[in-house]
Amino acid sequence: MRLEGKVALITGSSRGIGAATALKMAEEGADIIINYPFAAEKENAAEVRDKIIKMGRQALIVEADISVLAEAERMIEEALEKFGKIDILVNNAGITRDYLLLRMKEEDWDAVINVNLKGVFNCTKAVLRSMMKQRAGKIINVASVVGIMGNAGQTNYSASKAGVIGFTKSLAKEVASRGITANAIAPGFIESQMTEVLPEDVKEKMLAAIPLNRFGKPEEVANVVCFLASAEADYINGQVINIDGGMVM
Ligand code: NAP
Repeated sequence: MRLEGKVALITGSSRGIGAATALKMAEEGADIIINYPFAAEKENAAEVRDKIIKMGRQALIVEADISVLAEAERMIEEALEKFGKIDILVNNAGITRDYLLLRMKEEDWDAVINVNLKGVFNCTKAVLRSMMKQRAGKIINVASVVGIMGNAGQTNYSASKAGVIGFTKSLAKEVASRGITANAIAPGFIESQMTEVLPEDVKEKMLAAIPLNRFGKPEEVANVVCFLASAEADYINGQVINIDGGMVM
């Protein structure tokens, strides 16, 4: 087991890629902090927690809106209170509000930037002091191929994910001397509630651009996140790893 004795916090882990990552990390031996923002998702988070406990690991659910710094700080405090340390932070929570720029409202821009980019700042800032003290830590940020190649209708999302990539590289340079690595992953089209809602013609267009000719599964993303969180990836820092079936190369 590659993460035995480790404690991992995964934001937005009530479903999708975050839930798959939480389960995979527990399978690899880590205790897990599950996070989601709203009471409506209680059952999903509880399901993830129950599966983790069945594996013999510990799990803590913390409801927190990561776009608010005080909420992120409270989440980290609760996690540190329970486990005494956080070894791995996966900044996974993300949203979309897709519109062509001419139709995009200010609140669509703000919502996406606040969750996808400011949320990464909030959670990383809140966890960093404890990681620096222990002189070890792995931070993995979930970006997107859209942050690299752009996508019509996603100026807000693309800007947020490009921002996450820049944030990751700068952070990697700041904290490496303290034994902390920061890397980003850039998934392509992964089957989840986020992509389920896309119109069929958009999905078909995307499929045509994927050399492997299929969409990815949350577990395939979780595998890479787990690798980056493990000692096997100790010498990988400041990188962006695409998980996209060859869509961007
Ligand atoms: P998803 O199924 O929509 O799940 C998103 C998760 O984030 C949910 O647990 C959601 O909780 C949570 N969340 C949303 N806003 C939050 C907030 N303010 N505070 C805390 N948690 C919040 O999405 P996904 O497809 O798994 O995506 C996960 C990450 O991968 C995102 O960053 C996304 O941008 C990125 N990504 C996805 C794809 C893809 O094809 N699916 C591709 C590239 C990158 P609620 O359910 O309560 O809202």
